[in-house]
Amino acid sequence: MNPVEYDYGFTLAAFMLALLCALFTVHHSETDIVRRRQRALFRVILASVTLTPLFSFISTYIELLGDAHRFFTVMYLTQLGLFVTHHAAAPFFVLYTMSLNGHIRGLKRLIQIALLIPFVLIELAVLTNPIHHGLFYYNGDLRYTRGDWMLPLYFIALFYYALGIVQMLRSRKVLRHVRWSYLLFCYLMVLAGIAIQLFYPHIRVEYFTESLMAMILMVAFERDMHTISPLTGLFNRIGFSEDIRINELAGRHYTLIAIRLRDLKDYARILGETRYRALVKSVALGLSQSRVSNLDEGAYSYDEDSLALLLYGSEAKAEKRRDEVLEKLRGSWSIPGGGAIQLQATVAEIHVPKQISDRKLIMGRLSDPEPLRPEGVTLLGTEEIEHFERAQKVEIALRRALQEDRLQVWFQPIWNVHEQRFTSAEALSRLIDDELGSVPPSEFIPIAEQRGLMGQLGDFVLDKTCAMAASGVVGEGGLAYLHVNVSPYQLPGENLAERFNAILARYGIGPERLRLEITETMDIDNSALVRQSVSQLREAGFQFAMDDFGTGFSNLSSLLSGRFADIKLDRSLLLSAERDHGRQMLRSIYEMVRASGLITVQEGVETEEQLHLVEGFGCDTVQGFYFARPMPPEDFTAFLQENRTTDVPMKT
Ligand code: C2E
Ligand code: MG
Ligand code: MG
Repeated sequence: MNPVEYDYGFTLAAFMLALLCALFTVHHSETDIVRRRQRALFRVILASVTLTPLFSFISTYIELLGDAHRFFTVMYLTQLGLFVTHHAAAPFFVLYTMSLNGHIRGLKRLIQIALLIPFVLIELAVLTNPIHHGLFYYNGDLRYTRGDWMLPLYFIALFYYALGIVQMLRSRKVLRHVRWSYLLFCYLMVLAGIAIQLFYPHIRVEYFTESLMAMILMVAFERDMHTISPLTGLFNRIGFSEDIRINELAGRHYTLIAIRLRDLKDYARILGETRYRALVKSVALGLSQSRVSNLDEGAYSYDEDSLALLLYGSEAKAEKRRDEVLEKLRGSWSIPGGGAIQLQATVAEIHVPKQISDRKLIMGRLSDPEPLRPEGVTLLGTEEIEHFERAQKVEIALRRALQEDRLQVWFQPIWNVHEQRFTSAEALSRLIDDELGSVPPSEFIPIAEQRGLMGQLGDFVLDKTCAMAASGVVGEGGLAYLHVNVSPYQLPGENLAERFNAILARYGIGPERLRLEITETMDIDNSALVRQSVSQLREAGFQFAMDDFGTGFSNLSSLLSGRFADIKLDRSLLLSAERDHGRQMLRSIYEMVRASGLITVQEGVETEEQLHLVEGFGCDTVQGFYFARPMPPEDFTAFLQENRTTDVPMKT
């Protein structure tokens, strides 16, 4: 064979392709902090597939030149180098596959080392080849000749590829379908390359298929734009959910550090696009850099303002890492282009699966809207994290109930002291879930408020209340109107009055058949949107009752300003009235309210004594377990029918 007979085409193409991948990888190395191990393995593969064809080309070229003896050392060394680099490809491709499907994390150190023993033996054999000539030697004509040890070498390569195929098949469940098919393609191609070269040695295609494999890995796994955030270069939400799934399937224990940068987005307007982007990036990179040694970690920018770290190591190490994050957050961040700022942040450290096991809940923790936090950097306590899991479950149950029309609206009658009969009732929602059982409104209403479900829930309850109000029994039972609770979180909704009227129109009733109960909070007076909605509703003919007077923010000045028709005195006032001082206070509240002409409703009357007490104060109407508990619509209907003919209260 002379140089012309030998086809360098594939070898050179393999080198150029691999070189391109290597250059690209080095140039875009900013994402190397994510999935460090996977990145490192990929780099070994890249080095292998780049150097192998280069060495092969040089040594073969010299050999075929004719005066090989002049360059014998170069020829021999490049041939050795070829063996060193080429035999790294298979074992590292296997390890890379195992890092894609996450199995590498579950492996004991010892097994990881054992896996590499055949590879190390090969490398030792290669490096000592000048002594034993077992792998190759150059004969008298300086022609390359294979030694006797080549066969075991093939078997070892075979062993690695067999292992790799098993791992590739195991990846099927954890990788998205497209990505898995890329991996399958890589294996098929590499094996085809080996087979072709085995049977048709002059078609030197093996190195080329290996380079191609590296390129596919680069595009499908290393530079998969779907999974990388263009802003920070870290993995994004998709990459995060993929890794969470991999961990769940492998039953892995790990720690999630969730970081929300509460005011980061505010800087977009202040700094302008370019500087803001640079700030986001430098914060993300700063937080994902770790000084904790030997801690396997993944960093993700889940959202512009939320980051996540997945830590695979002891809880003690995770704690150290968390403290490092807190320390960095408490420091200041220099703004590209000058200046420095301090950020506000909330950090949660969650041990999976000990604290939260459900994948959806873990994802939810990161997109969960947060209640207001004090200034600065806050670390969430264990209780808050456990509370979150419950809240997330309640949210899911609530959404399900709303969707499947299974949220219930019960009714509790209200007794009129003057007329000695029931003249109204309050609608109260009930969530009874298959899994969670009965969830009290005191739990699910705040969750609905926090997670943007209040508009939907409010409409639902209003609809059921209107249905009841429109049914004949309510009128025949002598009820003038029904009370329905309205949360301040429903109020900023657009065209609220129109929406409410549309619901009423469905049942052909007017707004005078309802009384909207609202608990006064800071929001009502402060938010222009809420005020606007309230006045629109009032213009549309709705009347309001102030709920829970005596707790929270309710104040007398707004009471007397004529915004309310009814006032409901909270049960806590009644309870404290059982003491002398409280009794005096309740009496004066009643006197004052009566003077203002509002209708009073005493909440939470449970005993005859309590009833007599508030009757004595001149209370107009009374609601409480003494008369009836809230009941499902059917029972309420029956209750009204029974009470129509009698004026003696039903005790339950
Ligand atoms: P609320 O509007 O003050 O409703 C009165 C609460 O007192 C009801 O609790 C009722 O079951 C309870 N109650 C009535 N009589 C007695 C009594 O004699 N003793 C005692 N201990 N309690 C009595 P519930 O149904 O658990 O609702 C709690 C709160 O959840 C409600 O307080 C209201 O603020 C909110 N809520 C309930 N349903 C809805 C709804 O559909 N929409 C909105 N926005 N809030 C709702
Ligand atoms: Mg109420
Ligand atoms: Mg109340």
